[in-house]
Amino acid sequence: MNYNKKSIEDIEVAGKRVLCRCDFNVPTKEGKITSDKRIVAALPTIEYLIEKGAKVILCSHMGKPKGEWKPELSLKIVADRLSELLGKEVIMASDVAGEDSKAKAASLKDGDVMLLENTRYIKGETKNDPELSKALAELADVFVNDAFGAAHRAHSSTSGVADYLPAVSGYLVQKEVSIMGKALANPERPFVAILGGAKVSDKLNVINNLLEKVDTLIIGGGMAYTFLAAQGYTVGKSLVDNEKLDYCKEMMAKAKAKGVNLLLPVDTAVAASFPSPIDAEIPVEYVDCTAIPTDQMGLDIGPKACAEFAAAAKAAKTVVWNGPMGVFENPTLAKGTIAVAQALADSDAVTIVGGGDSAAACEQLGFADKITHISTGGGASLEFLEGLELPGIACLEDK
Ligand code: ADP
Ligand code: MG
Repeated sequence: MNYNKKSIEDIEVAGKRVLCRCDFNVPTKEGKITSDKRIVAALPTIEYLIEKGAKVILCSHMGKPKGEWKPELSLKIVADRLSELLGKEVIMASDVAGEDSKAKAASLKDGDVMLLENTRYIKGETKNDPELSKALAELADVFVNDAFGAAHRAHSSTSGVADYLPAVSGYLVQKEVSIMGKALANPERPFVAILGGAKVSDKLNVINNLLEKVDTLIIGGGMAYTFLAAQGYTVGKSLVDNEKLDYCKEMMAKAKAKGVNLLLPVDTAVAASFPSPIDAEIPVEYVDCTAIPTDQMGLDIGPKACAEFAAAAKAAKTVVWNGPMGVFENPTLAKGTIAVAQALADSDAVTIVGGGDSAAACEQLGFADKITHISTGGGASLEFLEGLELPGIACLEDK
């Protein structure tokens, strides 16, 4: 796929009505925003548009209202926070592309900012309904997609609208695409990928695609035990996907055929059961992965694996990481994830973290500012690593 897309800097926006799709799908609790990270990530594009004198019409989805006007999923709280961050009024429309939006969009002055209501209040949004796409397009002269977190969706506001308007990327989409696109298409080597997380089945295509590109593939986290089981080891009560044993064998054969160094953990933290609650204090032991007791489960990589994985990461020029090495939500079982995060933080390589939980782990553990790029899109970054075409990017004009 071609990731060389036009950006807001490649078109004239002064005096134009610009419909800008953002990812304002912020987490909330009791009607309050608990993290405004996604709003902050959209600021460079919005500020650029204001400065250039565009009439800025923002839109986004929040949550899954499924075509119903659920008041608790109104974007009004986003308008309020955005207004504080920009230090100027954000005009809130009471509909998505209806009468109120049309009237407000028509009376915007250069540099004004307005926000439409939750695009998923309209059933047509997730169906990529041309009627909604057209209604959105009629509000504006130009479409800017800056919602990387929603770019893997072919919805009206993420790609359908581009059928009716000139479409370009915002700064956030441009940054995500250029950093991840370059890493995958033309990486500085050695190129090391580190995969973890709970299940092999979540990341089948990621493993398959990365084996085409990397020099070393490291597999930790819950998915490692299916690979260990496929090698014939006993993994006790560890997470194993019995339907994926053949797939794991195939991937190990593929790694060998391609000359990719495939690293699995040599040791693991084990406990008698999964911690409950997840952050409960839990007694663990460290054993070699060739000797996991049948009544125990592996919940983190062990110290030898930490050292080996960290050394491989430190020797790399490009590292892509997706998925924690263990049950990082528990301090005792976060050691493997911390070791990998530390190795990335200490490395001079281009380091890229994708995946919702891995990104959260980096932030919680305080490594975020030492990573080259933490993707803002969990699902979208995963599809990127799978080598899939993202509809919200494919619809943009080529340079
Ligand atoms: P990401 O969101 O970064 O793509 P995933 O959603 O695939 O990551 O996986 C994250 C989850 O995997 C975490 O909740 C973590 O507790 C869990 N996990 C990691 N290692 C294990 C393990 N050994 N056993 C069970 N769950 C694990
Ligand atoms: Mg996750």
